Order: sequence, then C-alpha cells, then structure tokens
Amino acid sequence: MNALNKKTVDDINVKGEKVLVRCDFNVPLKNGVITDENRIIAALPTIKKLIADGGKVILCSHLGKPKGEPKPELSLAPVAKRLSELLGKEVVFAADANVVGENAKKAVEAMQDGDVVLLENTRYRAEETKNGEAFSAELGSLADIFVNDAFGTAHRAHCSTVGVVSYVKEAVAGYLIGKELKYLGNAVDTPVRPFVTILGGAKVADKLTVIENLLNKADTLIIGGGMAYTFLAAKGYSVGKSLLDTEKIDYCKDMLKKAEEKGVKILLPIDCTVAKNFPDPIDGPIEVEVVDADKIPDDHQSLDIGTKTAELFADAVKSAKTVVWNGPMGVFENPTLAKGTIAVAKSLAETDAVTVIGGGDSAAAVNTLGYGDKMTHISTGGGASLEFLEGKELPGIAALNDK
Ligand code: AMP
Repeated sequence: MNALNKKTVDDINVKGEKVLVRCDFNVPLKNGVITDENRIIAALPTIKKLIADGGKVILCSHLGKPKGEPKPELSLAPVAKRLSELLGKEVVFAADANVVGENAKKAVEAMQDGDVVLLENTRYRAEETKNGEAFSAELGSLADIFVNDAFGTAHRAHCSTVGVVSYVKEAVAGYLIGKELKYLGNAVDTPVRPFVTILGGAKVADKLTVIENLLNKADTLIIGGGMAYTFLAAKGYSVGKSLLDTEKIDYCKDMLKKAEEKGVKILLPIDCTVAKNFPDPIDGPIEVEVVDADKIPDDHQSLDIGTKTAELFADAVKSAKTVVWNGPMGVFENPTLAKGTIAVAKSLAETDAVTVIGGGDSAAAVNTLGYGDKMTHISTGGGASLEFLEGKELPGIAALNDK
C-alpha cells in the first residue's frame, strides 16, 4: 500500500471550501504545557498548503484518552495556542464539550478563506472510537472536503478517521500521511539491499505478524528486547527469569526454520546484561553483570543485550543499505539498561543507509539521544507503523478516495 493510489491535497481545489483536517495533535502535556511538539510541527505542511490555497481550514484531533467525556486536562486549547504561534495567525478554538457544538458551528459560519478553526478533543465523544454514525455525520456537516493527515491514528477506524468520509464530497490524504507511506512503504516494499530490520520491545506475541511479514522482505532480522528470550528458549537455551512466552516457543522455532529456508539471517543476543530483579522503580539503581546468552543464571533475568551483542548488531547495521527499527533492545527507561538501545541508535545515526524508525519507544530513544536529525525518517505513529510493517491495510487510509 502506498499513498500514490489515493488522492492527496495536491489533487483538489480547496478555494472557498470548508476543509476538515484530521490531524494527530496527540502531544504529551505536563500541567497544560506541551512537552514535545513534534506532532504539531509534522502537521504544518498540510495546514499551510490549505491556508495558502484559500481553504477554510477546520482542524480536529484526539488527545490522550478522555474515554468519551470532557476532561479539561485533555483539552486541545494549549495546541490551539501553540499552533497559532507556529502559523503566525489566529487559530480560533471552538471549546465545545460535545466537539461539534454551538461554538464550532458559529466559528465555522464566520470563517473567511484561509481562516483556521480547531475543534475540541474528538475523544470527548464516546462515539468517536466506535465509529458511530451520528458523530461522523456531525463532523461531516461542518465541511465539504475531508483531509486525513493523522498517521498516528490511521490504524483505527474512528468517526474522525473513517466514519466522516461518508458525509463529505471528497476525502484525501495530507502530506504527513503521504510522507509516512513513502518512507515506510519504500523501505519495506522496495528496499535498497541489504535490508536489515531490528525488532525489540517486550513481547513476541505483540509482533508475531510483523516477524512473519518481515521474514518475506528483509535480508537480516535482528531481534532484541524482551521478545528475544522466547527465541533463545526456542534454540534450547535456559533464560532464567527473563521475559518468556512459553506458548510462543514453537512459533519462534517455526520462524527460525523459515528464516533458514528463505536464507534470511536472524541475529539474536549472544550475550546479555542480567540482574537478579527488575529495577524498582524502573529507573532506580541496579546491579548488573554481562553473561553469554547460553549462561543466564536461573535466578537472573536479562534486561538488556550485552556488549558483544551490541557490536554484532552494530556491524549488521554498518553493512546495510536500508534499516527499519521498531522497539528497544532492553529496559531503556533505566540508564544502566539503556546501553544496548543507545548502541543501536548510535549505529543507525552513523550509517549512510536509509534509516526508518517505526515510532513509539525507538523514536523517543532516538530523539532523546539527539540523533533525530541523523535518521532518514522517524514515524509519528508507533501503532500505525507497526501495523504497516505487519502488512495490514490501515483503515484511515483505505477509506480515502482513490486516484
Ligand atoms: P513494546 O511496548 O513492546 O515496544 O515494549 C517496550 C518495553 O519493553 C519497554 O518499556 C522496555 O522496558 C521493555 N523491555 C525491553 N526489553 C526488555 C527485557 N529484556 N525485559 C523486560 N522488559 C523489556
């Protein structure tokens, strides 16, 4: 799937039209202050284009999980303020608890070409996540055209991503969705080889289909993080108290066999950073030692890859031409257990290969380490990019008009 078979903002004429844009303004907030504005920045190209073309730009998004009722701490008001500063023009905030209320209707009625209105958090409405018809129709009643630019929620069929499409004349993709699909799509479907994928994170079960799909595409599949230990168990190693999904051992055996048949290299940890217990608190002090992967003591658990593994993985990255990474190599929230994740991030920062970071924890790690601008693309959607890597159709994109 790629954006090319869907209409985009470049294919429509918005002059004088009311355009509802689904953005991903799901930004982290602390005491009403936005602590990471990357998602707002990522939405600007589409918004600026629609303003410049004389559209009446009505923005909407969810923020956090208000669970279907107004929660003042999850209001989009701080986003309206910041967006207004970034655009250098007024963004009228329609503070309706029911999202499409009197404020929204009046504000839209008063719009001139090029004006911008932001609606309140779409998840203040319980119907939003159920893709209910009534709220979809209300959203659609505000606009002539719908633009979806919220890649982070494209894997969800909600009123503001899918339902609304039935109530507008045209529904097209924005630049951010186009960019995400271009980088993720090209990396996975037409990679410059060797193509190395790195998977980490807690559980094998969460990434079953990703592993299977990537075995058909990648030359090398690197597996770290908590999910690696079920693979090590599948190889007959004893993994002590490390994360283990006993029900998935056979699946891992199957994947190791498939990889061999297909000539895909699977790289697993060869040494591990182990501790007696999980750190408590997660970022608290912890005593660790590094042992070979087949020598994890019964009363220890592996919480990060070891130094030799970090080198092995970094070497594989060095010889790659395309690298896609999703998921940390260890409990990176703890400085003592973040070394493997940092080593992988550094190896990606130093390569000339196309590097695509699949959102979520790996994106946060890369940005925190200051390697953000060294990557070819950092996805704004953790869950969405994962579903993309699984080869699934994203409903928020499938719903848009074909070219
Ligand atoms: P995920 O949500 O699946 O991407 O998993 C991310 C979480 O996996 C992070 O919170 C890490 O702390 C955790 N994690 C990574 N490696 C390990 C490990 N070896 N043992 C336990 N948890 C881990």
